[in-house]
Amino acid sequence: MKVLLAGGAGFLGSHISNNLIENNHHVTVLDDLSTGSLTNIEHLKSNPNFTFIEHDVREPYDIEVDTILNFACPASPVAYQQDPVRTIETNFLGMINLLHLAKETGAMVIQASTSEVYGDPKESPQQEEYWGNVNPIGIRSCYDEGKRAAETLCFDYKRQYGLDTRVLRIFNTYGPNMSQNDGRVVSNFIVQALKNEPITVYGKGDQSRSFCYVSDLVDGIYKLSTLAKPIATPLNLGNPNEFTVLELAKSVIEVTGSKSEILYKALPQDDPKQRKPDISKAIELLEWQPEIELLEGIRKTVDYFKSVV
Ligand code: UDP
Repeated sequence: MKVLLAGGAGFLGSHISNNLIENNHHVTVLDDLSTGSLTNIEHLKSNPNFTFIEHDVREPYDIEVDTILNFACPASPVAYQQDPVRTIETNFLGMINLLHLAKETGAMVIQASTSEVYGDPKESPQQEEYWGNVNPIGIRSCYDEGKRAAETLCFDYKRQYGLDTRVLRIFNTYGPNMSQNDGRVVSNFIVQALKNEPITVYGKGDQSRSFCYVSDLVDGIYKLSTLAKPIATPLNLGNPNEFTVLELAKSVIEVTGSKSEILYKALPQDDPKQRKPDISKAIELLEWQPEIELLEGIRKTVDYFKSVV
């Protein structure tokens, strides 16, 4: 494949870049480095199949490719709320620009959507058919509604222009290359534990998330991008094993052997109470399911953070 990977210097993007290069594809990464980092892709720069271009997807970009992967958007609540107007522009204008390119080139498009489209879900586990419960004017909506609009664009371009657009909804993913200060729970807890600083649990810590180790997610994305047949619906990708935030904090303390205490802080506005993907569709269509258990994934992530903190 000749792949255009928007957001390829970010946490997920850098793992996808590695995976595509390992599988002998040609990869052009577009990234504005707003949250991504050149360090994540430094080792790929000398590879003849790899090109990096500093570019903001809010502006159009022309290139001959057969596959477009859109991972361009800050993904942690702290990062995407820093400049919310830019976040929603990146989601909406970035998607339009990439779909326009797909229309010109005939490329297939994979859109990295998110479990955030389900908002604070009233159903659990979340199936793809569930329309979600999203606050359209809240502090998370620049991301949630931006991603929902991007999904709409994918399905409208599919219906109106016959494009092969594939939407995957990614649930909380963690692993090496997460930025140590992007504010996400796994990176926060591990960095705090390694420094023996208090572990900041927001609210009572009884809210849940289902954490997927990054290599599992990347395997699923690769299967989706090489699937011969288009798919008609969005696809949840994530690990269905659900944990409370407090359980996660205890697991991180266990793995690191840290002396950190738990420090309870205010729950952020609109923080979803629970998240758990129903992955039956991915199991059936991609013959995929995650393999890395939470403790093993935390161990691998701790090893990474030990080398950077
Ligand atoms: N969280 C926490 N302490 C932190 C960071 C996050 O308790 O230092 C909580 C947050 O309130 C949320 C969950 O952990 O309930 C996951 O947060 P994250 O920002 O990783 O992603 P989200 O799933 O909310 O997009």
